[in-house]
Amino acid sequence: GLDLRGLLKRNWLLIATIVSVLLGIGLGVLVREYASLSQLDKQYFGFPGEMLMRMLKLVILPLIVSSMITGVAALDSEVSGKIGLRAVVYYISTTIIAVILGIVLVITIKPGVSQETDHIDRTGITPNVTTVDTLLDLYKTKRKELEPPSEVKVNTTTFPPLSTTVMATIFPPENITKDYKIVGSYSDGINVLGLIVFCVAFGLVIGKMGERGRILLEFFDALNEATMRLVQIIMCYMPVGILFLIAAKIIEVDDWEIFRKMGMYMVTVMTGLAIHSTICLPLIYFAIVRKNPYSFILGMAQALVTALMISSSSATLPVTFRCAEENLRIDKRITRFVLPVGATINMDGTALYEAVAAIFIAQLNNFDLDIGQIVTVSITATVASIGAAGVPNAGLVTMVIVLTAVGLPANDVTLIVAVDWLLDRFRTMINVLGDAYGAGIVQKLSVRELERMDVTSDVDLTNP
Ligand code: ASP
Repeated sequence: GLDLRGLLKRNWLLIATIVSVLLGIGLGVLVREYASLSQLDKQYFGFPGEMLMRMLKLVILPLIVSSMITGVAALDSEVSGKIGLRAVVYYISTTIIAVILGIVLVITIKPGVSQETDHIDRTGITPNVTTVDTLLDLYKTKRKELEPPSEVKVNTTTFPPLSTTVMATIFPPENITKDYKIVGSYSDGINVLGLIVFCVAFGLVIGKMGERGRILLEFFDALNEATMRLVQIIMCYMPVGILFLIAAKIIEVDDWEIFRKMGMYMVTVMTGLAIHSTICLPLIYFAIVRKNPYSFILGMAQALVTALMISSSSATLPVTFRCAEENLRIDKRITRFVLPVGATINMDGTALYEAVAAIFIAQLNNFDLDIGQIVTVSITATVASIGAAGVPNAGLVTMVIVLTAVGLPANDVTLIVAVDWLLDRFRTMINVLGDAYGAGIVQKLSVRELERMDVTSDVDLTNP
């Protein structure tokens, strides 16, 4: 019969996580209804979740450093170049597919267009006040609230210009302790892209050093193993952290009504994310790898739930690694290389979201986009998703690139801020899934190189 015991045993963590999500929602709703928490109580309440976030963020640095350096050093430079190129081709093409999907949906669903004309009452049903009208009211009040005090310009303080962002993220920082904090004030976390650039260079050099380089390679490999053991311990705490993370969020949100108002917009984004993750990506994976794409998703479940709960691809990275290596058995030489880079630049969910949001804002402004502008939206949405860091709400900030490119007011992002914490979770989940599929696909495409290396290379990353 069905081996229920075995099934539970193998998946206890995932089951515990899902149960804790549900319990967290229940607890949040209960506390919201029946208890009145002071500001301080709320902080205590949020602490167990905060602790999970801090633990995950803590391991990102050693994890990325050790995996990128050993990953690059273990492959010879020609092979790592090829693998890198395949990864980049995958990243860019899937991101563009996501953008196109988003644009098609937002243009057909038209969440931001007032539907009054279609509502001419022929059936006897009283037409509702359109979502768009309520939304525009909301917009006006929000705008007033956010009106900058006369001397301070919102534009320059909130959003650093693109050039600064690029300079600050791609180039290695001057001061490691200070500057690995990401640009400006809008997000927290480490500058992953800058770190990756450094690690690739360092890994290449170590790989070329021969016998002397081995000490370093072994050092970083041991560091990687130690970090992953730490991750394993953190994951035992995960259900508790997640329970409080979601409960605290439910208590904190003060305006649930807004979700009804933003209904069609959110439906559009969610539909896009759902289609991309259950149809587009699985099809591509199946076409190339010829394995069941849905059991792949199941294997990634723990990472997907984590991403949904913490809305950060970077902070989910430790879990992504574990799922990809342990459950899906993707070659470590591939994951070490492809996953950290993917978490930083490959964001299908964010790209789709950017395109939908920008066109939605255009629709609200009665701003007709011509073909040229739609192409501009596609290109800038792709760029904006690459530029977004893997931290919460990053995509909202880089949206400014898309809006200004087509001449929409950058401050209009304030319109969609209120629902971003929710959409952010879902797009992060799709970002993580896209990275994982990428690792699976690049592995398949690189079988030959990997096999050849198994014979010639003396470095063994595929430890027990
Ligand atoms: N939070 C997303 C991520 O970490 C980025 C975004 O805001 O779109 O992948």
